[in-house]
Amino acid sequence: MNPHAGAVATPIDPVKLDRLAEVAVKIGLQLQPGQDLVLTAPISALPLARRIVSHAYKAGAGLVTPIFSDDEITLTRYRDAPDASFDRAEAWLYEGIAKAFEAGAARLAVRGDNPMLLAAQDPSKVSRANKATSIAYRPALEKITAFDINWNIVAYPTPEWAKLVFPGEEEDVAVAKLAEAIFSASRVDTEDPVAAWKEHNASLSGRTAWLNGKAFHALRFTGPGTDLTIGLADGHKWNGGAETAKNGITCNPNIPTEEVFTTPHARRVEGHVRSTKPLSYQGTLIDEIAVRFEAGRIVEANASRGADVLNKVLDTDEGARRLGEVALVPHSSPISQSGVLFYNTLFDENAASHIALGQCYSTCLMESNLSPDKIAAQGGNSSLIHIDWMIGSGEIDIDGINADGSSESVMRKGEWA
Ligand code: ZN
Ligand code: ZN
Repeated sequence: MNPHAGAVATPIDPVKLDRLAEVAVKIGLQLQPGQDLVLTAPISALPLARRIVSHAYKAGAGLVTPIFSDDEITLTRYRDAPDASFDRAEAWLYEGIAKAFEAGAARLAVRGDNPMLLAAQDPSKVSRANKATSIAYRPALEKITAFDINWNIVAYPTPEWAKLVFPGEEEDVAVAKLAEAIFSASRVDTEDPVAAWKEHNASLSGRTAWLNGKAFHALRFTGPGTDLTIGLADGHKWNGGAETAKNGITCNPNIPTEEVFTTPHARRVEGHVRSTKPLSYQGTLIDEIAVRFEAGRIVEANASRGADVLNKVLDTDEGARRLGEVALVPHSSPISQSGVLFYNTLFDENAASHIALGQCYSTCLMESNLSPDKIAAQGGNSSLIHIDWMIGSGEIDIDGINADGSSESVMRKGEWA
């Protein structure tokens, strides 16, 4: 870290960085006057965190509470902590965050973590620690996934991440390149990013309106290594772009975003599917995933790399073997066309159509405020995890299947038909 921040030239364009903070607060969150904000960020994203706090208070925020993480401190735990530490999580902290949400606070997460941070650590410690955190975090996460509150995720080009995305470049060059890729994908490289986001949201809502009108019974994905029929939940709803939270605030949860997505039927997925991009999951790269579904459940799972981690993840709970999301992204999306593999789901999931293992979004059902039993009855999945992985490419066709078995094309060779 540079103790004289501001005195030394940075490879990150300060004007675009400030616009990203402004877009996160005004479009991402639509933070309201008097509303509190819980902000989480890696400590190396401090320059963006500071700009966000500034824009938040200028927008009238009540109280902004930053919570920072540090890669070195995380690694120190894996190096020096007693074994029992890996079954524990800061339940008190997550309870406090859940209480803040109940009291009306918004949530903003800055992503920039080194995707390979835990690659050399004991996979069983990694999965135990993740499971403990997932359990402790669940009450807060449920308020996020159910859109009780307005929330947003943006990214910051940290050096370790940048060096992974642009190997072989000097650190400064890698950071500058990743910064530009983030700014362009986040639409802050234009003079009026707020207007650009309004236009983008309108185009995504055109897609969701078409899909909601069709109300397909299932989607069938076909392509190299893939023939997968994904049943859609009864009364499913397609979402994308801006979303109105239950507190009445319309937010843009993911910046960037290119996807339209809905809830699959957890018991009606059949066939086999192969991933089209590597999945970076909490420090491990899982590549060339190949799974087979029967009656909605993964009965066979393999990967050319990270197969042990994948299988541990699938054993998290019963819902981890079933789908909680299906999302459509055209192959021509700007993130896909950039050709950059970000090793970060926030970006990579917007480069290709994808599915997610685990927890569904109850907001992807037409009826709101359904009980957990009702959501399950309609096919919504429940799990501690939600992990997106990419199955789309320029070689994949997607058909919409109606309840009577008739079908029509949705995508051909990765593009809207
Ligand atoms: Zn998604
Ligand atoms: Zn997802």
